[in-house]
Amino acid sequence: SLDLGELARSFEVYPTSNPTSAEERAAELRAPRFGTVFSDHMARITWNIDGGWRDRRVVEYGPLLLDPAAAVLHYAQEIFEGLKAYRHADGSVWTFRPEANAARFRRSARRLALPELSTEDFIGSLVALVRQDVDWVPDAEGFSLYLRPFMYASETFLGVRASHEVEYLVIASPVGSYFADGVKPVSIWIAQDYHRAGKGGTGAAKCGGNYAASLLPQIEAYEQGCEQVAFLDDVTETYLEELGGMNLFVVKSDGTVETPELTGTILEGVTRSSILQLARDRGHQVVERKIALSELIAGIQDGSVAEVFACGTAAVITPIGGFKSTDIDVTVADGGAGQLTMALREELTGIQTGKVEDRYGWLT
Ligand code: PMP
Repeated sequence: SLDLGELARSFEVYPTSNPTSAEERAAELRAPRFGTVFSDHMARITWNIDGGWRDRRVVEYGPLLLDPAAAVLHYAQEIFEGLKAYRHADGSVWTFRPEANAARFRRSARRLALPELSTEDFIGSLVALVRQDVDWVPDAEGFSLYLRPFMYASETFLGVRASHEVEYLVIASPVGSYFADGVKPVSIWIAQDYHRAGKGGTGAAKCGGNYAASLLPQIEAYEQGCEQVAFLDDVTETYLEELGGMNLFVVKSDGTVETPELTGTILEGVTRSSILQLARDRGHQVVERKIALSELIAGIQDGSVAEVFACGTAAVITPIGGFKSTDIDVTVADGGAGQLTMALREELTGIQTGKVEDRYGWLT
C-alpha cells in the first residue's frame, strides 16, 4: 500500500496569494456550478523526452500558456480521467479506487503515444491537490469534489509524431447531486449512422477525440427526444457497446446480470467493474458477453429483461426507461427504476460515502 503523505510531499506547494474567501466558497459548495467553478489550486507535472517527469508541484489554478502550434491543438494527442473525492461523516476525505483510474490512465497513455505516469505520481497528485484544497470538498448528501486529471502534447511542433513535451495536470470542481429531485430513468437513442469507436481505434482509451466524435450523435439523440445515445459495434452494427460516457448493464428476470464484454472499443469503467463484483457477491450470475440490440429489444418485449441501467462516475447508476431508434420504441418493464438497479446504487454510493463498510478496500 502507498504512503500517501510521502507521495504528497514529492509535490512542491506554491499557495495562491488570492484564495477564494470562505463565504464565496461556502456559496459555491451550497449550489455547485460543476465544470465551470474550480478549486483554488491545480497539481502539475511536466515531462520531456530527455528528462522524463519533473517539477511535481501544486500551483494557483489558472490559464495555461500554449503556443498556437502546440501539438494537442492540431492532432488531439490528449487523455484524461475522472473520479470523485467524497467527504465522510467524520470529516475525512476519500477517493474511490484511484489506482484503477491510474491504471486506465496508463493504458490510455500507451494508446495515444503519451508518456506513462506511475500510480505513485497519479495518486500523489490527487492527494497533494485535495490536501491543499480540502475545504473545497462538499459535505452535503450526494455532493463531492470531482477530480479531472489530464495530459496533453504541449510541444510547439506541427509535425505529425508523438510530442517530445507533455504536461500533466489535475483540476478539481465541486459537484452536486446528479439526481437532485430523485433518481429518474433516462431514455436512450440508438445511434444509426454513427459509431463511437472503431476496431483498432481508440475506443478503450479515455481520449478527448472519442468525446468529440460523440457530440453529433448526442445532438441527434436530443432531437429524437432522448437524453443519451447508445452505440453499436462498427463491424457488424449488431452488438450494443456503451453510451457516450457510461457503460451498460442488463438484468434478466431470472436475476442474471449481463454487460457487454470488453472488445477493445469499449471504455472499461471503474463503476462497471465494481458493479460486476457487487452483483457476483450478491449471488447473481454475472456474464460479460456480446449483447445484440435485437436480443435486448426482444427480451424487453417478452419480459425476460427486467431492468437496464447505465453506470459511470458522474451519476454512478442511472436506470434506463426505454430505447428508441428509427424502427424501435420500447419501454423497459414499467419504465421505472428497477429493484436491483436501485439496490446496487444504494450499496455503491454507500461504500463511496462511508455509510456502507468498505469490505473491498476500495477507498483511499
Ligand atoms: N464509458 C465512457 C465512454 C466513459 O466516458 C465513462 C466515464 N469515464 C464510462 C464508460 C464510465 O467509466 P467510469 O465508471 O470509470 O466513470
